[in-house]
Amino acid sequence: MTTIKTTCAACGDVELSSDELTLELAPAMATGRYGFVCPFCTVTQQRPANERVVAILLAIGVAYSVSDDIVSELEIKEFVDSLDDWLGEISAA
Ligand SMILES: [Zn+2]
Repeated sequence: MTTIKTTCAACGDVELSSDELTLELAPAMATGRYGFVCPFCTVTQQRPANERVVAILLAIGVAYSVSDDIVSELEIKEFVDSLDDWLGEISAA
């Protein structure tokens, strides 16, 4: 069984096996977030997963689902950038 090291906000480093993690992916994106229940304090933790983390979690066999309600920081940045472009076009007209 592959184990992965991650961090609990309260306990610090924890080691989990692939079946103790869940992964939620944003549609059409290679990013998302993963969740796990800390084995020490039993609090559910959520962490953002970038492309590298997603690739690792999928490679070790973590179960995943696709969720519509994930808005990543990248998406927010792209939205703000496009808004800036739009405002630039408006003021230039
Ligand atoms: Zn903990």
